[in-house]
Amino acid sequence: MLFNSLGGKTAPADFREATIQGQAPDGGLYFPEKLPALDAAFLKDLKKHSREEIAFRVIQPFVGNTIPENDLHEIVSDTIAFPIPLVKVDESIESLELFHGPTLAFKDIGARFMSRCLGYFARGEKRKITVLVATSGDTGGAVASGFHHVEGVDVVILYPSGKVSPVQEKQLTTLGGNITALEVEGNFDDCQRMVKQAFRDEALRKHRFLTSANSINVARWLPQQFYYFFALQQWNAATPPVIAVPSGNFGNLCAGIMAWKAGLPVSHFIAACNINDVVPRFLQDGKYVPEAARATISNAMDVGDPSNFVRILEIFRENPDGLHQMLSAVSITDDETRATIREVYRDLNYRLDPHGAVGYTALHRWLGDHAGESGLFLETAHPIKFPEVVEAETGEKIPIPGALLHLLDREKSATLIPNRYEVLRDLLFN
Ligand SMILES: *Cc1c(COP(=O)(O)O)cnc(C)c1O
Repeated sequence: MLFNSLGGKTAPADFREATIQGQAPDGGLYFPEKLPALDAAFLKDLKKHSREEIAFRVIQPFVGNTIPENDLHEIVSDTIAFPIPLVKVDESIESLELFHGPTLAFKDIGARFMSRCLGYFARGEKRKITVLVATSGDTGGAVASGFHHVEGVDVVILYPSGKVSPVQEKQLTTLGGNITALEVEGNFDDCQRMVKQAFRDEALRKHRFLTSANSINVARWLPQQFYYFFALQQWNAATPPVIAVPSGNFGNLCAGIMAWKAGLPVSHFIAACNINDVVPRFLQDGKYVPEAARATISNAMDVGDPSNFVRILEIFRENPDGLHQMLSAVSITDDETRATIREVYRDLNYRLDPHGAVGYTALHRWLGDHAGESGLFLETAHPIKFPEVVEAETGEKIPIPGALLHLLDREKSATLIPNRYEVLRDLLFN
């Protein structure tokens, strides 16, 4: 399987090349030249197959011969080595809990898969690979955890000092080994600017093999299909679900649509956005107008120009009507999100995080207009990651999950640096 650049100016790349490069040299996103379809008999018997087998069958066509089957089996099993349960919230709504991984957010799945693929590819490289990322919180933790102990790959993470939550900071700074945390005296934009400058620095790139681990990388994007299949394995209603996806950069939702294209039964997708509503407005009036991101309580979705949306448009390029049939988008305010957290806890005894709450609100609204349907939403983070907001609405302390107990006792180790590129450059040269 080859991947074309949506920029249209680069030669196609295989999975290895696309994973190592991240973004195509022309600045475009990689997109598979052909969308694979799964065997109908296999899909019909989804419940009979193991999760490992399903994940392998889903991803193998994309990986092609760049990773031998045995190694890919191992990578896939390792990626999904934690539960992903579908939990009933009320009569017509279920929650796909994607927060049982090591950093308690769904990004673990993409990050774990990508890290293991890159680790495999690093074996064939003479130079050590350095993954360089700027994070405003969640991505960095998932990447750090995913790459920890992966041989042949170093990870350097820049985060804004004082602007990530205490849990997030611990997740970034306590691993050690091949993970280096740089605490930047500045904001997230400074971190991102410094990283971008490093990628443009030819002399540095001769010295170190730099790659990114952001959500546009095909090795982070494509494995997100897995859990849509796992959801359907656990789905017992007679008709396929409506699926609401809390969306920011739209990688997660785009993976769901890929799963549907491959044959997974889904009746409709809802892009559940906060007030960053570029896509809801686009679906309404056909105009795509990017904006500066606005801050909300579901901050992992504060994106004003979602990078993966072009991939969704590409899937429907030859069938624009299909886009509107299959996808709706809604924008939910912080007040509505808070009310949902409060009411769902009070009435249904289910504790939502702010991102999942946006998904629940969107789905609940849809089902109110479509009697007889039922659906699921993706619960993308554990509520403990946003304790202030959640505890204020539920009026109760959130029990600390086991995965976090020992984390909070760990010693922070980060290098404090000013927000100047030269300082980062010196560090990377040494
Ligand atoms: C990243 C993130 C999202 C948004 O996912 P996209 O793939 O960027 O749309 C939603 N919720 C949480 C908790 C996240 O960390």
